[in-house]
Amino acid sequence: MNVTLIPVTPFQQNCTLLVCDATRRAAVVDPGGDIERIAGEIERQGVTLEKIFLTHGHLDHCGGAGELAAKYDVPIEGPHPDDAFWIDQLEAQSARFGFPEPQPFTPDRWLGDGDTVTFGDITLDVFHCPGHTPGHVVFFSKDEQLASVGDVLFAGSIGRTDFPRGNHGDLIASIRNKLWPLGNDVTFIPGHGPVSTFGQERETNPYVADAVLARSGA
Ligand SMILES: [Zn+2]
Ligand SMILES: [Zn+2]
Repeated sequence: MNVTLIPVTPFQQNCTLLVCDATRRAAVVDPGGDIERIAGEIERQGVTLEKIFLTHGHLDHCGGAGELAAKYDVPIEGPHPDDAFWIDQLEAQSARFGFPEPQPFTPDRWLGDGDTVTFGDITLDVFHCPGHTPGHVVFFSKDEQLASVGDVLFAGSIGRTDFPRGNHGDLIASIRNKLWPLGNDVTFIPGHGPVSTFGQERETNPYVADAVLARSGA
């Protein structure tokens, strides 16, 4: 699988183009906006877009999903239905941040824990990781030992939980119980900022390192 990060929107959100090497078919994770840049990369690589995957319903992650889906006539899969209230507010989110008006959409498929998504010959496992938003999901390639975690976990930080229906305890539980068991060697692409590994964060992350959680009695 070939992976290209395409930071989009003023929030520099890590929109990700995943390409199946065998079939040259592709999926885009979290097309938050700047569709012409995403389309430019798809065309530059000469790949066929098959699906759009969404980690959660925040504007910078899904604001361009409707437009991209219409442009390529591809389905949108994810997030978990508990983020429907965020997607329903997409227009209001855009107005608040001065983003261009998004094309409304409804995901063609909602996702839940234990589901899988596919494109080309690639299969990704889906984990429901609430906390930052209630319907946040994470995509995991076992073969590549690579996770796309949206705003659950960052290099050196964790997702905000001060939004409506955010929950700090849920977020910590998602990280410990869903992400860490995937293994220390897993590389993850966060929604913003540089990539890291779960092992690195278990050692050094000031919020969720093993030593930090042990001290907090969590
Ligand atoms: Zn977010
Ligand atoms: Zn974000």
